Amino acid sequence: MGEPDLQSHNPQTHKPQSQALSYEQIYRCPACGYGELSAIALMDVFACDFCRHFFTANLQTQSVQLADSRQPMAWSWNGHRWRTAYQANTAASLVWGFAGILALLPVTLIALSNYIFPPLESLESSHFPLIWSGLTLVSHALISGWLLAEYHQWPWYIASGIFYQRGLAAVLAALD
Ligand SMILES: [Zn+2]
Repeated sequence: MGEPDLQSHNPQTHKPQSQALSYEQIYRCPACGYGELSAIALMDVFACDFCRHFFTANLQTQSVQLADSRQPMAWSWNGHRWRTAYQANTAASLVWGFAGILALLPVTLIALSNYIFPPLESLESSHFPLIWSGLTLVSHALISGWLLAEYHQWPWYIASGIFYQRGLAAVLAALD
């Protein structure tokens, strides 16, 4: 009597059935997160119809690897969605450490020098150091963010880059 109830509380039974990675299925592209990934006939390769990347597949390990990039990027299929492989390596921690220093060091130096040597100006211009510190923080944080997105090739970053390029091409074509 209680058995079916127990089964329905099992979170696994609520999910749509798990699908193994196969060449017959179509998947959401793991690189851009937007296009559709389908196998190229007679080849062990998937291609995306949006970012045009190629992926070599390994059905034993249920994973795909970016085939047309020097960056070693791979994703494993867990039956429902992609998970990034190659995580938590030393290169990634170096990039994150550098991005953190790049974002915070300049604003720290400015704040410190303003604290040690307060500006001898009239009251009107006393907001200037604060604005300058804010601009420094925002600009360097943007550079750090760009650096991290370039390194990780996050799907939203790749997709927005492609949307931007196609939008630009459409505007240029309309102006012709
Ligand atoms: Zn794609």
